[in-house]
Amino acid sequence: MKEKIFYSKEVKHYEGLGIREGASCIVRLTNYELQFCDIKKRPILKINLKDISNVAIISDKELIEKDKSVIGRGIVGNVLFGGAGLILGGLSGLQKKQIIQNIDYLVVNYKVNGEEKVVNVYANEGVIDNTFMKALNYAVDISKQELKCPKCGAVYNFNDYKCKNCGTVLKDTKKLKVFVGILVGVILFFVLIVGIALSVGGGNPREVNVISRVTNVDVDKAAEIKNILEDIGLAEFDDMVADSEILDGIEGEGSKGYRIRTDFSDNVILYLDSNNNVICVRFADEDYYRNGNVLKKFE
Ligand SMILES: [Zn+2]
Repeated sequence: MKEKIFYSKEVKHYEGLGIREGASCIVRLTNYELQFCDIKKRPILKINLKDISNVAIISDKELIEKDKSVIGRGIVGNVLFGGAGLILGGLSGLQKKQIIQNIDYLVVNYKVNGEEKVVNVYANEGVIDNTFMKALNYAVDISKQELKCPKCGAVYNFNDYKCKNCGTVLKDTKKLKVFVGILVGVILFFVLIVGIALSVGGGNPREVNVISRVTNVDVDKAAEIKNILEDIGLAEFDDMVADSEILDGIEGEGSKGYRIRTDFSDNVILYLDSNNNVICVRFADEDYYRNGNVLKKFE
């Protein structure tokens, strides 16, 4: 079966790969293996999923808070932590408080000829997310099961799509595919959402989007309001907030007031009527705009 890469993320090396600590590397989940590659995607270490005994994400805080005697052996729960466990576990109470940096590690325990080995990479800031861990755990789990073809009983590998003996399509592979399909689906969904957000918001000035969002008007109306603000010298502003409790109704029944945050004040006030037409723009008790007329300009 052809190798497929389900997941690929850039991380930083801590230990176990024989390269410098902090060096960038890539962790990849394929249908056969968990791979660690250099940044040119050349494999440094390929671990067969079947040889993985444990995977976990552990923070330095969790490591330090574990019982010292447990850490002394480099073991957290049933995860062998390697050198970092020894170093962090051996600290005094005072040192412990100072050293917590909220570092997350992705720890992988695997066996080579019966010998337990550890690879450990920095996995900070959500680089390795839950979806990856779920997929990896799932892949590791099913890679260990003794799988027999339901039709002919021949043993197959979890990543075999069809039974080599009788050609039956095997459901575990389908399950993994569905799982990874969901993963890809979720990613595509977010790409799509971001794409839509960019295409909707992308063509308009930021201020138009702010007006549209805060006053709940369509983009054309928001552009109209922005033009009026521009006419009185407020081409740019930081933000706008509705203040219905204090401002609504002040300029007549159904009128609504919004505070515009600029670089000089957060109290330039825009009043809209019930049809979202601009009644006036006021600042420091003065009209800058009213009923279609520019009365004053912000310098
Ligand atoms: Zn078969």
